[in-house]
Amino acid sequence: MITVITFNPSIDTLYKLETFEIGKVQRAGDVKKSAGGKGINVARVLNQLGHSPMCMGFVGGYNGLYIKDEIKKIGLRDEFIKIDGETRVCLNIIDKNKVSTEILESGPIVEENDMIKFERHLENILEETKILVASGSLPKGLPIDYYGLLGEICRIKNIKFILDTSGKYLESAINSHIYMIKPNIDELEALCKCNINNKEDAIKEAYKLLRYNIENICISMGKDGMILVNKDSIYEIKIPNIKIENTVGSGDSSIAGFAYGLLNDYSLKDCLRLSNACGMSNAMNIKTGFIDVNEIEKLFKEIEVLEYSKI
Ligand code: ATP
Repeated sequence: MITVITFNPSIDTLYKLETFEIGKVQRAGDVKKSAGGKGINVARVLNQLGHSPMCMGFVGGYNGLYIKDEIKKIGLRDEFIKIDGETRVCLNIIDKNKVSTEILESGPIVEENDMIKFERHLENILEETKILVASGSLPKGLPIDYYGLLGEICRIKNIKFILDTSGKYLESAINSHIYMIKPNIDELEALCKCNINNKEDAIKEAYKLLRYNIENICISMGKDGMILVNKDSIYEIKIPNIKIENTVGSGDSSIAGFAYGLLNDYSLKDCLRLSNACGMSNAMNIKTGFIDVNEIEKLFKEIEVLEYSKI
């Protein structure tokens, strides 16, 4: 099984407006709400691919009930821990030119007894888990290096840990044992504290990260595809041009594609193909954390994966 952790889920609300003007009253005719947070996006796409993962994290209040309800409706396994605070709402406003503005609440505080409940439950869940995916920021109340702790638990239990986070959460986890991280270029720049101007720079910085206990450094680059570096090889993933609708959630969809491939013993190259096909399909559709399964096979065939042995 794959288990997906979303510590700080949200109700994602999408407003489609003609134009988005600051300081004016605007009416949103087209409103879409969904259970969100990066991990829930990953879980939804995994479900679309044919694997129904276990979903963990913290939910609270009426918004939390909405999330639990939505998760069940989608067909995901709800293993969330209930807390006292109110689960957050995140807004994505898209104008007619597809320019997106996001407003993200920080979310509720997790208390120490919530953390204890979570850890007890995780212990059981990991008995059934082959791949653990953790995505997004950590809520207030959890230690900043909490993802590092999860990495250590996964090392002991021989579980593949895929971590998609950024900033201080990523920085404080990289000393732990991680199967794969997936920064985008901005996140890699923040982690390496340097400017990345091209693929060569990205590969060099990824190589430096191999000195930590991270097996695969996967760098997603939007329309420029992806790079993956591990101790044996460098993989460059080239993707065709596509018509974009909404790229929010493409990174999450690409994590889902990769994890699905890994669970089903795909070769690393095919995991990367499926990963990019899912990222692209998400970008081609208006909904966040959503793919069109009918277009995946075609996209998969159009993606080129090149392997090099050295820089
Ligand atoms: P997010 O945080 O919004 O989920 P991200 O920044 O983590 O996204 P991206 O690098 O934007 O991740 O996208 C992940 C993958 O999705 C890319 O590697 C690519 O395969 C696909 N993708 C994203 N944007 C585009 C685009 N504009 N054109 C083609 N493919 C795209």
